[in-house]
Amino acid sequence: MKDNCNREIKHIRFSVTSKCNYNCIYCDHEGFLPKTTELSVDEITQLCRILAQILKVTKIKFTGGEPLLREEIVEIIRNVSELKLYKDISMTTNGFNLVDKAQDLYNAGLNRINVSLGTLKPDIYKIIYGSDSFNHVLKGIMKAKEVGLTPLKLNYVILKGINDQEFKNMVNFCGENDFVLQLIELHKASQAVNQNNGFYERYYYDVSPIIKDLENSAIHIETRGNMQNRKVFTLPNTAKVETITPGHEFCMGCTKLRVGCDGNLFGCLFRSDLGTNIKEALKNNHSLSSYERIVKQVVETREPYY
Ligand code: SAM
Repeated sequence: MKDNCNREIKHIRFSVTSKCNYNCIYCDHEGFLPKTTELSVDEITQLCRILAQILKVTKIKFTGGEPLLREEIVEIIRNVSELKLYKDISMTTNGFNLVDKAQDLYNAGLNRINVSLGTLKPDIYKIIYGSDSFNHVLKGIMKAKEVGLTPLKLNYVILKGINDQEFKNMVNFCGENDFVLQLIELHKASQAVNQNNGFYERYYYDVSPIIKDLENSAIHIETRGNMQNRKVFTLPNTAKVETITPGHEFCMGCTKLRVGCDGNLFGCLFRSDLGTNIKEALKNNHSLSSYERIVKQVVETREPYY
């Protein structure tokens, strides 16, 4: 299914809870205010099946809040995997519960993960994530690698004056461990950023000089056309750096549909207000064609540059 700008929906980003055990200084809450209502496991499974059938998508990423706080997360992954409709099931997590859950998640059918790790220094970790658990998370990341949740990506939101000096160390760390570094520019679609006077101006770090350096030093450059035209640079030490910089190119290459934990279907991180809640329809077991109407209506609200 295509939106009005000819962008086809190719993957789903699905929040399973808005609960979180972290307090990241920039958090965007995945584009919507924390909700207390959550779709049930059956509703999530049913919706994943419907979306795959209607949109023919084969990629899905689970998120939160913190998805590993959802008690039934392993069951959710198993159910979705057993639908045999998705080829790529991934998750983005703060990594706190990976030591305990990585193996079960892998066994249930999770293919790979992204972990929020924007520093290699425990004191800076505390500043960014509000948590003392750097070493514990590192153990979880190594466990995830060991069980096969790969390619494992580290989400590095770069912040001026906090972790901007760590780029090279992060690249080396990723090269040594066969991780992909996701270099993410701070964006404003977040209450934490918006409602904190001067936060964006203080911490926004323009990554364009880094991208220029990467263009000069990379041995291979790929553009992920279906993934917001993100560039992936392979460096001489074999480390891969993927750059995420919201803007014109980014929007034109966006092929994502989002689902909030309460069942709000929306087409853009920056416009959850244009969403439609699908929970009632799920309760009443609508026909596939009426789900299709709801999904189409949401997809038609998608506009680049928000
Ligand atoms: N709790 C999970 C985690 O830590 O990955 C999933 C939710 S978290 C909101 C998902 C990702 O959103 C984070 O890894 C971070 O990269 C990104 N993010 C959140 N707020 C952001 C902001 N203001 N600017 C850029 N990226 C942001």
